[in-house]
Amino acid sequence: SLQGKTAVITGSNSGIGLGIARELAKAGANVVLNSFTDRDEDHAIADEISRDTGTTARYIKADMSKGDECRALIEQAGACDILVNNAGIQFVSPIDEFPADKWDAIIAINMSSAFHTTAAALPMMRAAGWGRVVNIASAHGLTASPYKSAYIAAKHGVVGMTKTVALETAEEPITCNAICPGYVLTPLVEEQIPNTMKEYGMEREEVIRNVMLARQPSKEFATVEQMGGTCVFLCSDAAAQITGTTISVDGGWTAL
Ligand code: NAD
Repeated sequence: SLQGKTAVITGSNSGIGLGIARELAKAGANVVLNSFTDRDEDHAIADEISRDTGTTARYIKADMSKGDECRALIEQAGACDILVNNAGIQFVSPIDEFPADKWDAIIAINMSSAFHTTAAALPMMRAAGWGRVVNIASAHGLTASPYKSAYIAAKHGVVGMTKTVALETAEEPITCNAICPGYVLTPLVEEQIPNTMKEYGMEREEVIRNVMLARQPSKEFATVEQMGGTCVFLCSDAAAQITGTTISVDGGWTAL
């Protein structure tokens, strides 16, 4: 059980981050939810998790595109035994037309935020004598596709940082790993469907099966619950010697 542990999950008011927060809370951890907004519904999600699981769930606003806010999130959490770097955005364009501001935002949110939060959290993990860093990379942290240069650069960077942090903590009771999801039907993916339908002149179901899941041999989306379960496993004693590696949850994508 993760009772008594505090987990901070960046970008967790929707999608995979929220799914991971729910599974960690079900496993007994107190959770800190985060995004860049500060709406009643953000806090309501935390209240609902507290009610459902009997653990403490809080929501803290912090913009993961800003280094100082990444560090402030960890400070405000007060404890961080489990750090899940999940916040991420996507933008799709050929590299010669890729807007520079989108490039900068993706590198900041999808990659540099993990540098700042990890730097702030490691001293707390060392003081507590236990820690888990779980980075949500992607199948696109291991392979590429056209038109996603910033995202793929950032996710490959996160996989590299994962290995480095694992080596820097190798002799301590701290591990650092990355989960590499294939396609999961979250708002981030849902938003890509209309554009892709237009680009390829396809119907929704055709886009899902022939474009999105073209490289996912299972022909099924992975789920946020599966990402949460994988994260709980990485926090378990069974995973204490798993460090500096990636776990693909991608329906066979990277086996192709
Ligand atoms: P999502 O859009 O549902 O979730 C992204 C989360 O990040 C949201 O909670 C959003 O509020 C938050 N966020 C965005 N910008 C932020 C900022 N500046 N500061 C703080 N929070 C911010 O998408 P998702 O699919 O759940 O994505 C979560 C992670 O999983 C991302 O890193 C994504 O790259 C990765 N991933 C997703 C898929 C997929 O198929 N959905 C596949 C591989 C990897």
